[in-house]
Amino acid sequence: MAQLIRIPVVLILLMLSCSLSGCFGNNIFTEDKKGIPGGLTMACLSSAKYTSMVVEIDHDSGYMPEQSSIDLLKTRLQEVCDKPNGIEIMLTETDFGQSGAWTADDVRQQAWQHKSTDPQTGSTLYWQALFPSGGYSNNDVLGVAVDASTVAIFKDAIEEAEGPFFSRPNAEEIENSVLVHEFGHLLGLVNLVYTSPVDHEDKEHPGHSNNEESVMYWAVESANLGNIITGQLPDDFDNDDLNDLAGMLSGEIPVSDQLWLP
Ligand SMILES: [Zn+2]
Repeated sequence: MAQLIRIPVVLILLMLSCSLSGCFGNNIFTEDKKGIPGGLTMACLSSAKYTSMVVEIDHDSGYMPEQSSIDLLKTRLQEVCDKPNGIEIMLTETDFGQSGAWTADDVRQQAWQHKSTDPQTGSTLYWQALFPSGGYSNNDVLGVAVDASTVAIFKDAIEEAEGPFFSRPNAEEIENSVLVHEFGHLLGLVNLVYTSPVDHEDKEHPGHSNNEESVMYWAVESANLGNIITGQLPDDFDNDDLNDLAGMLSGEIPVSDQLWLP
């Protein structure tokens, strides 16, 4: 009799703990150290521990990133992160099963549910981009960075941000820039985990550059970018961004909120 009573209690406890922490199907790693965007900046810039890097791209069916976006992201990361054993891109078609608008919490939860491993695994650093169907809860947003290792890019919103026929920038160019921009946030830009000696953060758009020739320019992730940026979209970090990264790596610029320090 006592055993018959005990089993349901255990089940109820399991269900309770599941609803409190969220149920992760492949909970093979701890996800309590998500950090903030920029929290793994030093892990990327330095090769003292993480000598290789994997960028995991999980995309809904029909939402695979452009090859040009993948190539550009890899190039930009190679230019600033010291990874002697290479940077690899891992594409995985993923059914997020989500309809309706995404919140930052949705992005975090879905990302951690589908991560292949802990972002800090051995000597490899894992960063992740989701390419889901649907849009963000704020329609003006083309991409978001939600924690130290996770971004999401909203292709549907990027398609809509493209101007009429033959106009520039087109959706592919926008995706190129937005993807690099969001990974720029994972690199701590601008002023997310440090304070730049140069005044290049846009006062009205914290965490962004005031230089429209930087990929970290605030309008790059906005659906109105076509109206704000005339001419070529920036797809590279400017000198102030690059100097900030170099200063953090050399120790000249103090860095906060790091999940790993050399
Ligand atoms: Zn941004």
